[in-house]
Amino acid sequence: MRNYDYEVLISKNNDSLTKDDNKCISCGQCKKVCSNDITVAKMFEINPNREPICINCGQCSNICPTEAISERFSYLKVKKLLQNKNNKIIVFNVEPASLVSLKEAFDLDARVDIEKKIPSVLRKMGANYIFDITNTAYITVLEEANELANRIKNKINLPMFDCNCPSWVKYCEIFYPELIPNLSTTKSYITTTGTIIKTYFADKIKVPCNDIINIVVTPCTARKSEIRKKKINYSKTDTNYVITTRELIKLIKDRNININNIKDSSYDKLFDISPKGIIGTSGNTCVAVIKEAYRILTGKYPNIELDSLYGTASTKELEISFEDKKIKIAVCNGMKSGVDLITKLLNKEVYYDFIEIMACNGGCTSGGGQPKITLLNMKDTKNRRMEEIDKVALKTDYKNKEIKYIIDNYNSLLHTEYYDKSYLLRGDDNEQK
Ligand code: SF4
Repeated sequence: MRNYDYEVLISKNNDSLTKDDNKCISCGQCKKVCSNDITVAKMFEINPNREPICINCGQCSNICPTEAISERFSYLKVKKLLQNKNNKIIVFNVEPASLVSLKEAFDLDARVDIEKKIPSVLRKMGANYIFDITNTAYITVLEEANELANRIKNKINLPMFDCNCPSWVKYCEIFYPELIPNLSTTKSYITTTGTIIKTYFADKIKVPCNDIINIVVTPCTARKSEIRKKKINYSKTDTNYVITTRELIKLIKDRNININNIKDSSYDKLFDISPKGIIGTSGNTCVAVIKEAYRILTGKYPNIELDSLYGTASTKELEISFEDKKIKIAVCNGMKSGVDLITKLLNKEVYYDFIEIMACNGGCTSGGGQPKITLLNMKDTKNRRMEEIDKVALKTDYKNKEIKYIIDNYNSLLHTEYYDKSYLLRGDDNEQK
C-alpha cells in the first residue's frame, strides 16, 4: 500500500518520467518539491485509481535520493544507434544549459573549455553533426518578437506568455485554459530545432528527412513529452530522441571517454552565423525577445538596462517606455512565483504585456534532468549554475539572409497550437498529447 501523503504517483503513460515503487522509501522529498515549488501536487488530491497530473518538469526525479523516480531513459537506444547507424545521419543538438553542469559531473579543471570538448566527445561516439541549439534559438527569438510586436501594436491577447518552457505550457493548458489565447504560438527552440533539421537542413545536405536521426541533449525532462505533442512535428518525428544531461553523462561514462584527454573542437555550423549569448536561464529569453520586439516597433534597440530581468529573484519586473507606449514585463523564476503572479493578474491587481515563466527554480540550468542536487548543496549549486550563464542574452542577427529566409519561407512551421486539458482535473480521461 503506497502512501501518497509522502509520494507522487507517476503514470505508466508519462513520456518523461518513471517510478519504481520497489525503490521508493516514502521520504517525502518528491511530494514536497511537487507541492511547494511546482505547486502541482497542491492543486489536486492523488487518487491511485485516476490518471495523476504531471507537468513533466522532473524536479521529483532530481531530488529523489534512491533513483526510484527517473527520467524515461532514451540513452540506451541512442547508444545502439551510434554503434549501428544503418546509413542514418546522426545529428546532436546541445543545449548550453546542459554544459554548465558537465564540469561539476566530471570534476573538470576550471580551465577546461567544455564547449569545445562536447563536440569532440559526440564525434568520437559516432555523431555526424553536432550543433549548439542556440543556432535555432535565433529563429525562435526573432519569430516570438515579431509576434509580440504585432500583439502590442494591435492590442490583442496581451499579456503574451513566452512558451519555451513546456512544463509551464502544460500547467497553463491544465489549470488556466482561459489563458491559452495569451500563449505565444511560436514553437520552443527545441521543437523549432527539430523542424528546421528535418526540413531546411535535410534539404541543405540533400538527405531525406527520415534518414536523419535528430537527438537533443537538454537539462529538461519535459522535452521528452513536448516532442510528442500534437501540431509540433512537420515530419513523422522532428526530434527522434531527447536525452537529459544525466543520460549524456551515462553515455560518456559507458564509453569510457576521458574528457580531459580529448582534443578541443568546435560545433558544426547550421547557419552561416555563430550565435552569441545564451538562453535557458531565468530572464535570458525574455530579454532577447524584448530587445527584438522593441527594435521591430521603433526601428532601434532599447537604450536602457534590462539587467534587472536576470538573476535569482523569484519575480522580476520592468517597465520600458517608447513614444507614447509603455511595455510592462515580468519574469517568474519557478512555477510557484508564476502561479502567484497569475493569481494577481486574473484578479486584475496587476497588468503586463509580456511574461516569461520557467517552471524550474533557476530555469533550465536547474532542470529536472541535470545532475542531482542534494538538499544540502541546493542553493549554492543552483546559484552557481545560473551565474555561469547569466546576463548573456542571445544576440540575434535579424539581417542575416539565411535566418530571414527561414522566417519568411518556413513561417507556418515555426508555430503551434495549444489545447484545453482541464479535463485531466476531473480525472475523466487519459491525457491527449
Ligand atoms: Fe524544462 Fe527549463 Fe522549464 Fe525546467 S525551466 S521544465 S528545465 S524548460
